[in-house]
Amino acid sequence: MKKTKLKLKKGVWFAIGGVLLLIILIVIGVKSYQTYQYHQTNEYKLLEIGYSAEEIQVLEEHLSNEEITTLTNTDKEEFLLEVLQDPYFIKSYLDRYMAYHNDHEGSTARSVVAAVNTNTDYDYYTMDFDTNTEDDILMLVNKYYHLSEDYEPTDLVNISNRYYYGEGHQIRSVVYDAFIDMWNEANNAGIYLIINSSYRTFQEQQSVYDSYKDSRGTTYADSIAARPGYSEHQTGLSLDIFSTEYTTTANFKDSPAHQWLTQNAYKYGFIQRYEADTEELTGFAEEAWHWRYVGVEVATYLHEHDITFDEYYAYFILNG
Ligand SMILES: [Zn+2]
Repeated sequence: MKKTKLKLKKGVWFAIGGVLLLIILIVIGVKSYQTYQYHQTNEYKLLEIGYSAEEIQVLEEHLSNEEITTLTNTDKEEFLLEVLQDPYFIKSYLDRYMAYHNDHEGSTARSVVAAVNTNTDYDYYTMDFDTNTEDDILMLVNKYYHLSEDYEPTDLVNISNRYYYGEGHQIRSVVYDAFIDMWNEANNAGIYLIINSSYRTFQEQQSVYDSYKDSRGTTYADSIAARPGYSEHQTGLSLDIFSTEYTTTANFKDSPAHQWLTQNAYKYGFIQRYEADTEELTGFAEEAWHWRYVGVEVATYLHEHDITFDEYYAYFILNG
């Protein structure tokens, strides 16, 4: 009896031991397989390269799986991370950002995004994009975007000689209304604004540009005037503004009138279109007198954020 019982018990113990061993082996196998699987993931490979969990999240937010897989084969891309986190990053420009950075040693993510968003990785006058006039007061005209020869705004009005020395000058009515409000407020502050240039036809711009070109050549003409079709004055949204006391391009920048405009024009929808230090992006050296109407909302945004209208257009309108 006793012997049989012992035998049975032995068999049971062997069975239990066998099952346990099997379970342990299965667990180890599954665990190893899971580890192996995890080591094949992009996440693991990126962590190994040195990306943090937060940085991996940034990559996943902006890049496709395929693009991330490519990254697992290279060193950590610090510049790429900075570009992806720039507030004005545009996904479809990514290759151009990387190319521009490679061509410009020491460039920062901010400077690269600003340059590419404004097309300055291409030479002026080589892209020939048509201005989308449907954008209305937010239409873009610069050295890449141009108006057709026959574009003329439909709501031009005559400017009173109270605001402009001389007769026959025109501007879009929406701009005129805003300008008069601004003029009155400036007047209350003891400042007398005076318009020096307003709407210009394609043909008028042609003769301005040609006169420079004929006297001193294309390079000089391009440095001082826009080519016909590429002038913002053809939009009927831009005014060259001086004051009755400071009337030249040389002295207006340091005038009380310019200071007043800098602080207040955005409230009426105007921006100084070509500011100091933005020549690269806008294509024009600083013009303290050239004020562009974009409406109060956009003018306020630009007043509060350190970007050009060209950048605003690329991010919010073209790719918004
Ligand atoms: Zn101007």
